[in-house]
Formats: sequence, C-alpha cells, structure tokens
Amino acid sequence: MLRIAVQTKGRLNEQSMDLLREAGVCVAEDKRKFLMRAKDFPVELLFLRDDDIPQTVSMGAADLGIVGLNEVVERGYDVQVLKKLGFGACRISLAIPKTDKYTGLEYFNGKRIATSYPNILNEYFAKYNINAEIHTITGSVEISPAAGLADAIFDIVSSGGTLVSNGLVEVEKVLQSEAVLIGTPNLDAEKMLVAQQLMSRFESVITGTGKKYLLLNIPTSALDEAIGILPAMRSPTVIPLAQKDWCSMQTVVDEDALWEVIEKLKAIGAEGILVLTLDKIVL
Ligand code: ATP
Ligand code: MG
Repeated sequence: MLRIAVQTKGRLNEQSMDLLREAGVCVAEDKRKFLMRAKDFPVELLFLRDDDIPQTVSMGAADLGIVGLNEVVERGYDVQVLKKLGFGACRISLAIPKTDKYTGLEYFNGKRIATSYPNILNEYFAKYNINAEIHTITGSVEISPAAGLADAIFDIVSSGGTLVSNGLVEVEKVLQSEAVLIGTPNLDAEKMLVAQQLMSRFESVITGTGKKYLLLNIPTSALDEAIGILPAMRSPTVIPLAQKDWCSMQTVVDEDALWEVIEKLKAIGAEGILVLTLDKIVL
C-alpha cells in the first residue's frame, strides 16, 4: 500500500486534500486519525507537521509526500521532487527596514539576519561571498528587526502584506516555492506503478484548474478569425449548424483570458456564447 504524507493542518492541508480527492483518493475526514486508508485507491494518508514530511519520505516511512519546496530545500534530505502541484506559491526573500537604503547584496555584510531557513540563506550568502550573522528563529521572524533582535530578515513572502505592516521591504527574492509531490529515493516497482497512476490523475486535475469550456455560434465567414483568437489545446471543435453559413465552436480557454476572448469573439459576430465549468482534462 502506497503511503502519502500530508500536512495535518496549516496552509497546505486543504488544497492537498482537495487535490487528492479530485484524483480519487478520499478518506472519511470526519473521523480523522493520523493514518487513514483511502476508500477506492490503494493508498493511505499519513498526517504530519510539514517540517517532518521530507525526512519521513527520505527514510521511506512514507513513499510520497506533499510539502512546500521551501521545506524540501531547507531540510536537504534525499528525496525526489516528482511534481509541482500548482498551489501554495510563495517565495523566500531577504527584507530590510524600509527606512534603510539598500545598496545591493553587500548591504548584508556584518548584518544580523533572522530566519527559519538558515541552510538556504547560508548557501546563498556563500555563493555571493557575503559575511552575515544568521540567527535561526522558529516563531515570528518578521517582528525581529522592530524588536531589535536582527537588522534584516529572510522569510516567506506571498502577498507582501506582512512585510509592509512590519515596516519592511523585500530586496532579494532567493527561492520561488510551491507545493510539490516528493518521493522516497527507491520506490519498488509495484508502488511506482500506483505513484505514476496518481501523478497522471494529478496532472489532469492541475491542467483543468483555471480553465473554462467555451461553446459559441459563429458565422462561417468569421471562422478563421475566431480560430485565431482561441488558444485551443489542439484546435477547436467546429460543427456546422442547421442554419446555413453558421457553425458551432467548442474549446477550452484559460479563465484569466476568458473575458478578453469573449469580447473579441463577440466583435466578430459570435452569438449564443456558453461558458461551462471544467472539471478535469485527461491528456
Ligand atoms: P506545520 O504546523 O505543519 O509545521 P507551518 O506553520 O510550518 O505548519 P504553514 O504556515 O502551514 O506552515 O505553511 C506551510 C507551507 O505553505 C509553507 O512551508 C509554504 O510552502 C507555503 N506557504 C504559502 N504561502 C505562505 C505564506 N504566506 N506564509 C507561509 N507559508 C506559505
Ligand atoms: Mg512547519
């Protein structure tokens, strides 16, 4: 049975569970235990703090894990990063008090930097020959400069709101992170098969995320122009309508570009535009 380590609670828990559920791995969430067997797939979920997931997977106590890339890189355990999962996006950045003038990386020479990511920072400073004092803190790193505990911080940033409210400004983006699927170094053949099946299900879910299905009618004379507007996966499906010189088109569109595409299509005569929710794309 393939065992997957997932964050018990916290920022990655909900989206990890959503992704697994969409991929057909469901557990009875009402009576949650630390180890739970999925209903219709040969998988069990092991719920852990995210700090412990890389080591657990590297030891083989779990075969796979879902965790932030930042944790994987910081902990440095021997695991394979199998797949980016498209959620939990953040970056780890250096930030300084906004009243200070930033002069480039040399600014950090001789400074005290508070962080929960000492290994990533050490490696980064070594690469650029910066000599700074790194202070490892597990709690609220962002308050250290105001509290006089450090001159600057190296911490997770997503919207940047926390930095602003602590009078800090981001000056160097060091690591781009998101949730990833990690695997133990030597998965046996049988488990590898299940893992691959699961990854291909994940791929379908991830590809379908942020996409809409678009159906519309268009005069045949405007068809080529419409095809040019639509960024279809291969090419849009075109079906003639009973009404002469009209056809129906169907395609998949990125949600981000949806309104722009609809407006362009309307401008060339499209009618009866339907936007449908899309669940999964199996490629
Ligand atoms: P645990 O109790 O499991 O140890 P935690 O408090 O260490 O949890 P969370 O705050 O739940 O961790 O964050 C988990 C992961 O979510 C981070 O390691 C990171 O990959 C990702 N993440 C995305 N955006 C943010 C953010 N704004 N702040 C912190 N983590 C973020
Ligand atoms: Mg943690």
